[in-house]
Amino acid sequence: MSPATFPGAFLDRDGTINMDAGYVAKPEDLEFTPGAVEAILTLNSHGYKVTVVTNQSGIARGFHTEADVHAFHTEMSRQLADSGAHIDRYYHCPHHTEGTVPPYNIECDCRKPGDAMYRRAIADLAIDPSKSIAIGDKVTDLIPAIALGATATLIVPKDRLENPLPEEEPFQRVETLQLAVKRFLA
Ligand SMILES: [Mg+2]
Ligand SMILES: [Zn+2]
Repeated sequence: MSPATFPGAFLDRDGTINMDAGYVAKPEDLEFTPGAVEAILTLNSHGYKVTVVTNQSGIARGFHTEADVHAFHTEMSRQLADSGAHIDRYYHCPHHTEGTVPPYNIECDCRKPGDAMYRRAIADLAIDPSKSIAIGDKVTDLIPAIALGATATLIVPKDRLENPLPEEEPFQRVETLQLAVKRFLA
């Protein structure tokens, strides 16, 4: 195994990189959130291994297939490449206990807040979690990464930025992926 040397970015997909209309799957429905492409390019240029870590229970629920998810990621990479940006690797969890499609309707250790996708990314890409950031629009995107030693930022709508914060929230809150990256690298 190679030594863990690279800083990494663990990015949630729906609602973080792309607009989340609910079970987004068709390549033509891909719409980046404002500044997302620039944020990924910034991470690339700073030497970060950029990973997408996404729960895709729509597969277990029969809404779409693994092939659909791969096609969506291919389109995402194609559009990013137009701007010189790239995702180093995509990880998705196809499972859900309430799914209807075997073999996906099981309890697994990859569905967030499970940490299996993060561990796989760390091993595959020689990522040092302590030099890394996780960014997502749900606390469950952040919990596993924080436990592994990463810094974390929650993307929230502007009107929730100033919500009464629990005393010691283990992550920052900002409005966009781009701001999260900017602040982390500052
Ligand atoms: Mg999300
Ligand atoms: Zn899973």
